Amino acid sequence: MFKSLWPTRCLICLQTVPATSPIEHLCPGCLSILPWNTAACARCAQPLPMELAYCAHCLNKPTQQQRAYILFDYTAPISDWIHAAKFEASFIHCRLLSQLLSHTLAHRSTSFPQCILPMPLHSRRLRQRGYNQAIEIARTVCQRFAIPMDTHSLQRHRYSQSQSTLALKERKSNVYDSFNLRQPLTVSHIALLDDVSTSGNTLEAASRALLMQGPLELEYWCIAKPF
Ligand SMILES: [Zn+2]
Ligand SMILES: [Zn+2]
Repeated sequence: MFKSLWPTRCLICLQTVPATSPIEHLCPGCLSILPWNTAACARCAQPLPMELAYCAHCLNKPTQQQRAYILFDYTAPISDWIHAAKFEASFIHCRLLSQLLSHTLAHRSTSFPQCILPMPLHSRRLRQRGYNQAIEIARTVCQRFAIPMDTHSLQRHRYSQSQSTLALKERKSNVYDSFNLRQPLTVSHIALLDDVSTSGNTLEAASRALLMQGPLELEYWCIAKPF
């Protein structure tokens, strides 16, 4: 639970956030009205019309990951917060998104992964941006649940255009074969963490590289997707 010497204001309604709020910059009322992706497939996190475990697609042809969380539909204010975290070096927003992910994960009943892999950026993009927002978002989650972060094993070795600038059909070839393993993984249960998923092709390409060395219990943790 968040504890501060100074009261903070809710980013949405500007009211004082009670010290009991699980999110530093959100009051409980505003937390509850965010565009949560609540009823979703446990494997791919696609929204479902009712509380079913899996979508029809995953029942017939399961995805590579065994569990997925996509917290929100990519709409305001989540889209604004992700933009600030990603392009404006706003570490307050990185921490906010990390706390929202922690808040969701706190309700899970199954065992936690042995390590978290933030989605890597290509070294050129990392130099341009100066930081990897996925690493920043992973920080609070790693601390809260005492899970180590692995920023080394998975590498993005091929520079590709930003997925958001491409048409859907171009996105798959844009990231295909973009990732490789620098070293074998020493754990068997991991979570791949990313800020936004659009087509799911980046996740698929990274998962393929991770699964190359053998079977792995793979989870996907993502903040938002435009559904
Ligand atoms: Zn509020
Ligand atoms: Zn599914």
